[in-house]
Amino acid sequence: MKTIGLLGGMSWQSTTQYYRLANELVAARLGGFHSAQCLLYSVDFATIERMQKDDRWDDAGALLASAAKDIEAGGADLLLICTNTMHRVYDQIADAVSIPVLHVVDVTAAAIRNAGLSTIGLLGTAFTMEQSFYRDRLASSGLDVVTPDDDERALVHRVIFDELCHGVIRDESREAFVGVITRLVERGAQGVILGCTELELLLSSDDADVPLFPTTRLHIEAAVDQALADS
Ligand code: GLU
Repeated sequence: MKTIGLLGGMSWQSTTQYYRLANELVAARLGGFHSAQCLLYSVDFATIERMQKDDRWDDAGALLASAAKDIEAGGADLLLICTNTMHRVYDQIADAVSIPVLHVVDVTAAAIRNAGLSTIGLLGTAFTMEQSFYRDRLASSGLDVVTPDDDERALVHRVIFDELCHGVIRDESREAFVGVITRLVERGAQGVILGCTELELLLSSDDADVPLFPTTRLHIEAAVDQALADS
């Protein structure tokens, strides 16, 4: 089994899901006492969150690139950046190491294409929904992307940072998100990307009439596939 490197802590609420899923997936595949061989580097999210707000993406990229090098030095064979938003600095991180870094958008786009969909709704932080790094990569996979309107993007961003990153799960927020998803579908979305690693804490496939694409699960499934490829 290969060793999966997890660059996490953004936030730790979703990193625990990466860790749990990695172990569950390996156990399901190999049985017995098998569990995931992995290395976790969990950053102090306050530092990253401040840099996001201050538009200091290069500094955040340098910090994460340094952490990625430590993970590689520790023996990881592949690496996941356990947040959609920080894929904004994917190139800085991937250039700092020689192990493969599985891009969350590529994994997600492959799942969407496999489902035969071409127009996709996107929920995530304002950075993910509004900046080009995420949407352009989806578009270059042949997907048309629909995002919520201004007020709803602000709502989604607020719930992620004020609630989900602190482990607060509220029924009112789930109901509001169901409304946001309904309006994305009305505007042509054939499915919706849960493009923030905390969103799976709030939403499940039962909350929508269209397929949801949970990026945490898809990301770690791809990593486990690679880790077990030769097993
Ligand atoms: N985990 C989140 C994401 O997937 C948001 C936290 C962050 O800004 O990194 O985008």
